[in-house]
Amino acid sequence: ILILGIETSCDETAAAVVADGREILANIVASQVEVHRHFGGVVPEVASRRHIEALNPVIATALSEAGISFSDLAAVAVTHGPGLLGSLLVGLMATKSIAFACNIPLIAVHHILAHVYACFLTAPDTTFPLIALVVSGGHTDLIYAASHSEFRLIGQTRDDAAGEAFDKAARAMGLGYPGGPAIERLAREGAPAALYLPRPMLEEQSYDTSFSGLKTAVVNHLHRERQKGNPVNLADLAAAFQAAVTEVLVTKAFAAAADFKVKTILVAGGVAANDYLRERFREEASRRHLRLVIPPPALCTDNAAMVAAAGYYHFLRGDFAPLTVNAVANLPLTADFAV
Ligand code: ATP
Ligand code: MG
Ligand code: FE
Repeated sequence: ILILGIETSCDETAAAVVADGREILANIVASQVEVHRHFGGVVPEVASRRHIEALNPVIATALSEAGISFSDLAAVAVTHGPGLLGSLLVGLMATKSIAFACNIPLIAVHHILAHVYACFLTAPDTTFPLIALVVSGGHTDLIYAASHSEFRLIGQTRDDAAGEAFDKAARAMGLGYPGGPAIERLAREGAPAALYLPRPMLEEQSYDTSFSGLKTAVVNHLHRERQKGNPVNLADLAAAFQAAVTEVLVTKAFAAAADFKVKTILVAGGVAANDYLRERFREEASRRHLRLVIPPPALCTDNAAMVAAAGYYHFLRGDFAPLTVNAVANLPLTADFAV
């Protein structure tokens, strides 16, 4: 079963062909990072225009790299939310056109679940029940899943998402956009124990997170040291920040796994590309004898292979969308999926 996946929810224009939800035949991502870097973040209007320019060539490249044509497709899957409305619409309209012209099913995929399905793409033998943590630019979602059609949001951020915190802390440190990779690089030369940053909500009996206070702590540290005329060791600050975010995420995810008595934890989303975070999750999983799945970094950040993989499981249960389906900027995780 060959599914074409299309992803345009934020600033990557992506198309991929995946066989049976597990074999990537092509995975094309045209990133707009260089365009948005000038603005220090994603500019929505610029993003949708870029998607319009990039999408057709990206789809054509995906098909030719996979060595297939439209007529070989069993279905076409697309992210219909959450994300930037103007960006989502570009991918959705293209997908509708393909579904209509080829007379194949249209599958509408929730972007955060697509991130989760990058884990099934990586480890197709993954079994339920499980806890999934999606840490990305806009979300810090902790999810309990009982089956492919029962996903329940059990925790989320009360302010900034984990990736957003990386981006804002990096900006305060003058590291540029996107912040995650910049902080990770710098942190390699730093000592996480050189200074202590707060671990927001660590002790609270909640699966929610909060990272805006941590970002403020970074800003305050910079001000304080500069006022004293001290040179700031940015590598140490980056390492301390990364360690604080990671400790909160590790604690919440493994607490949920224990509470819900699951043996499997999935971690996905752009922040899951972070090597320090991956290592901490691996250590903790092996200590607790839990199965951990984290996709390779290229499948953690936005891509369309994860959309095609999620689409495959929709396909198996005949979960198709009408051609009238709309893009929803703040599509909730629960609306279509909770049981
Ligand atoms: P959402 O999925 O919530 O809609 P998004 O699609 O923009 O948001 P992703 O593409 O999944 O988010 O991830 C982008 C985020 O991941 C950015 O905030 C970026 O800083 C962060 N990120 C990317 N690589 C790393 C890394 N190595 N370490 C930490 N954070 C990272
Ligand atoms: Mg992005
Ligand atoms: Fe994403």
